[in-house]
Amino acid sequence: MSQHYDLLSIGAGSGGLSACERAAEYGKKTAVIENKTVGGTCVNIGCVPKKVMWFASEIAGTLDDAKGYGFDVKVNAFNWAKLVEARQGYIKGITDWYGNYLKDSNIDYIQGTAKFIDAHTLDVDGTQYTADHIVISPGGYPIVPDVPGSEHGITSDGFFALTEQPKRVAVVGAGYIAVELAGVLNGLGSEVSMLLRREHFLGSFDSMLRETLMEDMVNAGINLMTRINVERIDKNDDGTLTVHCQGGIVCENIDALVWAIGRAPNTAPLNLDAAGIKYTEQGYIPADEYQQTNVEGVYAVGDVIGEAQLTPVAINAARRLSDRLFNNMPERKLDYTNIPTVMFSHPPIGTMGLTEEEARKEHGDAVKIYQTSFTAMYHALVEHKQQTAMKLVCVGANEKVVGLHIIGKGADEMLQGFGVAMKMGATKKDFDNVVAIHPTSSEELVTMR
Ligand code: NDP
Repeated sequence: MSQHYDLLSIGAGSGGLSACERAAEYGKKTAVIENKTVGGTCVNIGCVPKKVMWFASEIAGTLDDAKGYGFDVKVNAFNWAKLVEARQGYIKGITDWYGNYLKDSNIDYIQGTAKFIDAHTLDVDGTQYTADHIVISPGGYPIVPDVPGSEHGITSDGFFALTEQPKRVAVVGAGYIAVELAGVLNGLGSEVSMLLRREHFLGSFDSMLRETLMEDMVNAGINLMTRINVERIDKNDDGTLTVHCQGGIVCENIDALVWAIGRAPNTAPLNLDAAGIKYTEQGYIPADEYQQTNVEGVYAVGDVIGEAQLTPVAINAARRLSDRLFNNMPERKLDYTNIPTVMFSHPPIGTMGLTEEEARKEHGDAVKIYQTSFTAMYHALVEHKQQTAMKLVCVGANEKVVGLHIIGKGADEMLQGFGVAMKMGATKKDFDNVVAIHPTSSEELVTMR
């Protein structure tokens, strides 16, 4: 006989765990099904290890900057393997903690791959489980393109498996992952080329952010190669790669090629057709604003819906879903507008709301832009300077702030509080009514004219 649950989550990542956790708090019988490791992408091969690597890369920058502040610092060596070991130890601590937490929270953990039998029944490696509600939250995986020799490259998964630092790296792609990994590798001393198929990266970001970061990355020594399409990768006898691109452009002596050209949802093994669940050609599962799929009792949360692929989005959507299902809150749902996000580049980017380009398209002449660009005080004394740039995109007579874009040291920690203000509908005047904190970079956000 199959075991019955109030709620089953497919995927023990941020979304699946959060749905179960909240349901369990309401006394419901729940289980998460996972075929890899508890914690999902974010904890194991995403945000968490990435942030550790970003910190390391920032430290390398700070050590370099220290001489400007009078320190006679000599860095004898950087030990990649030691950093990776420490990072993995930290992650193991988190996943071990999860194991105990699941037990303490009365959430069952089922190891294996889930497949739909029908809308309320899952098969997990030969055992059947039924549930009133099923949350599909299986996350995604990095895409590898279909070009000859593509298997010689690695993805972000492979990057986190590197136990030795690659000396010369080619990063192919133009999104979050490409920019973040290129920055980390460069900061830690690898020679990095970014192979972009357009003139720029971060195509969906405000142009100010994109342009400032491109300039900074070039100044930091990254080789930005634009209008490049990879055609073939050859692996040489000495283990290096030769990357052949359209137009006869060749990158030689590459120790690691990183594919960072986007991610795809992990939906292929789910046998969605058996339950009549609709999915797109790329495998994403469309869900309405309540995370409801086209099938009653089946929900999709997190990267699998193909929108705002961010850990806190999955967590919030999943918690609200369980609130709605089990705590008599029929209107509870996540508002997908105005989601703040940070790019852990060097320097970092914090961005929220409409870009200037989007605002002008939507609101025409009603848009007013406030913008500033400066060298932050920290950089006044150091050799390698980074730009700080900020933009407020305002709309209408009351100048409601509909877009907020920051690049520069500290931008990652600046945005959250301003995000609260924006979410509350703050206007430029509200920003200006706050007394500036001096001397900081963020004071510029409340003093722009
Ligand atoms: P993205 O979808 O963000 O970016 C991939 C980009 O690579 C595309 O936009 C495209 O840019 C380019 N590209 C696509 N195909 C090719 C190709 N064949 N050759 C060369 N370039 C190509 O994907 P990522 O994998 O970077 O990230 C996935 C998601 O993960 C992000 O959207 C984000 O939501 C999340 N994420 C968030 C982070 C954070 O919050 N800090 C960190 C990491 C990931 P173009 O069309 O301009 O060429």
